[in-house]
Amino acid sequence: MYGLSAADEDIQARARAFADELIPFEVEAELSGGLPDDVTAAHKKRAIELGIFATNLPRELGGGGCTTFQQVLVQEQVGRVTNALGWVAATPPSWFPPVASADQLTRYLLPTIRGEREECYAITEEGAGSDVDAITATARRDGDSWVLHGVKWHVTSFNTADYCFFQAKKIDDPERLPGDSGGEHLLFLVDLPSPGVSVVRTPAYSHTISHHHPIVAFEDVRVPAANLVGAEGDGMLYSREWFRFERLMVAARCVGAAERLVAEMSGFASSRVAGGIPIASHGLVAGMLADSVTELFAARSMLYETARGIDRDPSDVKTAHAQCSMVKLYCSEMAGRVADRAVQVFGGRGYMRENAAERFFRELRVERIWEGTSEIQRMIIARQLTARGVTALA
Ligand SMILES: Cc1cc2nc3c(=O)[nH]c(=O)nc-3n(C[C@H](O)[C@H](O)[C@H](O)COP(=O)(O)OP(=O)(O)OC[C@H]3O[C@@H](n4cnc5c(N)ncnc54)[C@H](O)[C@@H]3O)c2cc1C
Repeated sequence: MYGLSAADEDIQARARAFADELIPFEVEAELSGGLPDDVTAAHKKRAIELGIFATNLPRELGGGGCTTFQQVLVQEQVGRVTNALGWVAATPPSWFPPVASADQLTRYLLPTIRGEREECYAITEEGAGSDVDAITATARRDGDSWVLHGVKWHVTSFNTADYCFFQAKKIDDPERLPGDSGGEHLLFLVDLPSPGVSVVRTPAYSHTISHHHPIVAFEDVRVPAANLVGAEGDGMLYSREWFRFERLMVAARCVGAAERLVAEMSGFASSRVAGGIPIASHGLVAGMLADSVTELFAARSMLYETARGIDRDPSDVKTAHAQCSMVKLYCSEMAGRVADRAVQVFGGRGYMRENAAERFFRELRVERIWEGTSEIQRMIIARQLTARGVTALA
């Protein structure tokens, strides 16, 4: 199905086998808020051995050098696993190589591709989420350093990362108070820990994964000038490129999650007898199964076509941008509907945390929020539709 090449089938099989190895650890991770560090380290090592780590980075830098389609095939399998256990098959920042200095390559990117370092992103603030331009974090040049100031929210993986990308606006006026909104967007590399970087608090979230999303204060954090990423003013450009990539990968993981949910709920519905017959034979349950697999097929077809379109013509960034929004929107909303039905099909069992449907039901909710909410995706899509016409998008 889907006309996969031998190489596509090979990497898909490796990723699928890896996901199947992780699934038995889910309940332990759910009930303990994660797995012991040595177990996670072993999983990461295995992902590297299997060649499904850093699939999105070029071979010459030590990455997998995979096509976009192959990256999607891998992340789809990652999505079949709950509790973020599959995140060990990481995708380091693929927008970074063209703009990274030799020093940044050596100190940050190459060790990340080797699995020795891990990054996190500090962009969102209390008053700036969808509207990234509203950030008030500041960066002020002082001799050979930059001084960074701001409070960032939802910094995913801050507890496991050893450096972060910090987005701020440039201020030139030394008299200006920290927190005043400045001009151009700048992106910096900040080592963790660094003097002035502290966790304000670590809120609890709906999912119970080992990666935390704390609120983090950066108070007059001094970084060398060499830690500015790319050109001054280009900070938003990199974030946008990363959003596009991540939206496609969110969609892939949602499709993987939906596949697992459909498999689990149809298996249960075939064996669970109520009223003398398997519940799958009750029309109302059959309808939930049929709707779910139909939406899965639609989502996967759309996902694969989007990824292949990017591989066919990587220069058509506008189409890729709109289609990544479309596929993120559709796949995340589809997965939410499928998870809701799966809980229903499992009945009381579907409300137990030991059941994958219950965990997906909570975990998939954020897919409609991060990397741009569903509303933001709709705005992007509608803007492109009215500007470029229907045939440019679909
Ligand atoms: C678990 C989790 C992990 C995260 N990880 C990170 C991370 O690692 N790094 C990071 O920087 N950020 C991270 N985020 C932040 C995430 O990207 C934002 O939460 C998201 O972009 C939405 O921003 P917001 O929460 O401020 O919501 P808001 O922007 O306040 O939006 C609130 C509501 O208003 C709607 N809305 C806003 N603007 C518009 C508009 N123009 N048109 C229509 N509707 C609109 C939204 O769709 C939403 O429904 C994370 C968030 C979560 C929940």
